[in-house]
Amino acid sequence: MNKFINLFSFFFALFLSNIAFGVNSDLKNIKIDAELPAGNIIVDSIEDGVVKIQQDLRDSKQWFYWAFRVRGAQGRTITFDFTNKKGGGPVGVRGPVVSTDGGLTFSYPLDGKSKSDSFTYSFGQDDKDVLFYECYPYVRSDWDRFIKKHEKYLGSHIALETLCRSRKLADVPAARFGCINKTPKFRFLITARHHASETMGSFVLEGAAETFLGDDALGEWLRENAELMVVPFVDYDGAQAGDQGKGRRPHDHNRDYLQFIYPETKAITQWIATHANGSLHTFLDIHCPWIRAWENEKVYSPLKDPKILPDVKIEKRFSELLEKIQSGSMKYRAKNDIPFGVGWNSGKNHAQGWPAATWVGKTVKDLKIVRTFEIPFANADGTVVKPENCREFGRDIMKVVYLIASEEQ
Ligand SMILES: [Zn+2]
Repeated sequence: MNKFINLFSFFFALFLSNIAFGVNSDLKNIKIDAELPAGNIIVDSIEDGVVKIQQDLRDSKQWFYWAFRVRGAQGRTITFDFTNKKGGGPVGVRGPVVSTDGGLTFSYPLDGKSKSDSFTYSFGQDDKDVLFYECYPYVRSDWDRFIKKHEKYLGSHIALETLCRSRKLADVPAARFGCINKTPKFRFLITARHHASETMGSFVLEGAAETFLGDDALGEWLRENAELMVVPFVDYDGAQAGDQGKGRRPHDHNRDYLQFIYPETKAITQWIATHANGSLHTFLDIHCPWIRAWENEKVYSPLKDPKILPDVKIEKRFSELLEKIQSGSMKYRAKNDIPFGVGWNSGKNHAQGWPAATWVGKTVKDLKIVRTFEIPFANADGTVVKPENCREFGRDIMKVVYLIASEEQ
């Protein structure tokens, strides 16, 4: 009997120890990889309930993009500790963007509960496959879904284009919206993802494009008078592969408008030269800033060198109008703009080569508006940044472009 009790005690103790320590001590069946759209992760170690990981910088200098998938962790609580802590760490100010349904929907479940270099996630019993991103992802399939949503306008209000072939020989998508079947009075160009990982720019671009399809007076005017060319991924290969993009060696896509080592930048200038006869009314280039703090948690424009601006008064009017008419939940304030020559926004920042806006400002004819926007990744002055309010912002900036263009008529 004693023997039986001892044996029972042994197995009961073993059972209890599994309850107590199994959650965190045995992570050997957990798989962490970069097998997800725009995946990017290096796993340093998995032990004692802590996974040590870091962003894969690839050919970029210090930056903060990462994306990984976790399988086999259901029912467990795991801490993800980023070992590259430069700049405070690569976790966004609302924590990771997470999907538990294979990428259909995303949210910030650890908003307010994450650190800048780590977070702890409790996997539900059914969380067999969970995706973690530094920011909301936006890849080719998202663009295809956007076009599919509006496919009834193909041929009438939307013309799909292939900008060029990328270095990896992929067709780089672009599209024209609005007045596509006759010569328009105004031509606008919007680009996003000169820096591959700055995903929120692609959502802004979607919102701007959708104004051309609206069943309202604004949509009607735009379709009659204006053509909008959009390039949703200037660094196409990098955006699909989950590269940082920013600060690539020898220089990134937004420092390439002198040397043109990337097919996409060259193709953008050729499209302007040929299709647009060297003339644009408006050029907008959408970016995301650093991951946290200061202006990086506000929507703003780094204002261009007045020497390349077509008209400083129009730039000022753009800012005033946007602040006045904006209806989206993510608010722009002109006072947050960074004047040229202040902080990082100076000619020194262009030592590696011209950005797109500089090339456009110096080269394109008839230009009225040339402007860059920085869209924060997760927090805009207290507002949660999500795809929908990025789209709202895109609609708001296109309303301003319309107001300025229509005044000229
Ligand atoms: Zn950028």
